[in-house]
Amino acid sequence: MVERFDLLLTDCRLATMVEGGVPYGAIEDGAILVRDGRIAWVGARTDLPDHEAVETRRLDGRWVTPGLIDCHTHLVFGGNRSHEFERRLGGATYEQIAREGGGIISTMAATRSASEDALVASALVRLRGLTATGVTTVEIKSGYGLDAENELKMLRAARRVGVEGGVRVSTSFLGLHALPPEHRESREAYLDLMIDEVLPAAHAEGLVDAVDAYCEPIAFTADEVARLFAEARSLDLPVKLHADQLSDGGGGALAAAHGALSADHVEHVDEAGVIAMARAGTVAVLLPGAWLMLRETKLPPIDLFRRHGVRMAVATDCNPGTSPVASMTAALNLACVQFRLTPEEALAGATRHAAAALGLSHQIGTLEAGKAADLVAWDVERPAELCYWLGAQLVQGLWVAGKLL
Ligand SMILES: [Zn+2]
Repeated sequence: MVERFDLLLTDCRLATMVEGGVPYGAIEDGAILVRDGRIAWVGARTDLPDHEAVETRRLDGRWVTPGLIDCHTHLVFGGNRSHEFERRLGGATYEQIAREGGGIISTMAATRSASEDALVASALVRLRGLTATGVTTVEIKSGYGLDAENELKMLRAARRVGVEGGVRVSTSFLGLHALPPEHRESREAYLDLMIDEVLPAAHAEGLVDAVDAYCEPIAFTADEVARLFAEARSLDLPVKLHADQLSDGGGGALAAAHGALSADHVEHVDEAGVIAMARAGTVAVLLPGAWLMLRETKLPPIDLFRRHGVRMAVATDCNPGTSPVASMTAALNLACVQFRLTPEEALAGATRHAAAALGLSHQIGTLEAGKAADLVAWDVERPAELCYWLGAQLVQGLWVAGKLL
């Protein structure tokens, strides 16, 4: 009996990104059969089983990759900080701008005053930049509301971005992002509010896929993060951490000690932290856009990650302050040019390893039978071109769960 499928992609080359074997897990002259939103079969075209497909797409030898995964963004926020960008270029310092109510506090104020609809609408504009560069899954954090009502509003907006934008969204609760001004004299009360009230409420509403925090001397301490993570564990939620971005505060080791999915930024993590991350299977999420915008000079320890077998992911960190980057291929380019990743490492960082950073390896990140049919067809001759071009429009077709976006 001939099996029926919803979609056949054929006459294409596949970068399956399956680990081991040939570079990029490549299959020259491949084909993919899709049914019920999943990859039902993938392999060499000559091995195609007998089939009937509702729709057949011949791709003229184009490359197909798994849908890209942007595993670290702050895509939902009110306003933007382009006026601060102009002022800094005009000579103003961060301190001056912060004293005048700028920086993260200005984004907090703009986010609080924005309606949920307005947050969704502005995030969808930025999402267009991501989907135009191959993204089918995006992680979105809270962390600009910094009170109960507005943290929940951000997370609801993030869920709607997924529905209205036609992509997968993975949310992270980032209540411990910054201390809001009204709690400057009542730090403990803020921690109580976020950990004991807002996180459980957001979880009860189904708004939280993971719990994140900003661990840095200017933000929250290791002890405060540990308290948050204990609550996450009691709710059975995975954790991740903004770690060792501006200084070596032991953030990588802290994340690893809590079995975190990922430690993000990690420019300053030391070798002990890298070893701890390797043992715990914690992914290093590299954010070269923020590194560029902040004109940082300390590179993340890429060779240590390689030597100790820490998986590296790459993300945009799209946010209004330090990384106004809404292009996944730009992030790939920066990861190669600035951090010296190979194109294959960078692409693994936007697929297989990014899926691991979100705890979604069973579902997305490679072209394998049983995984979601999140697929991108690219107008390129070689997969390395996804990291090589800066600003090119390379996506020829993009499917989420087997549906063309
Ligand atoms: Zn971030």
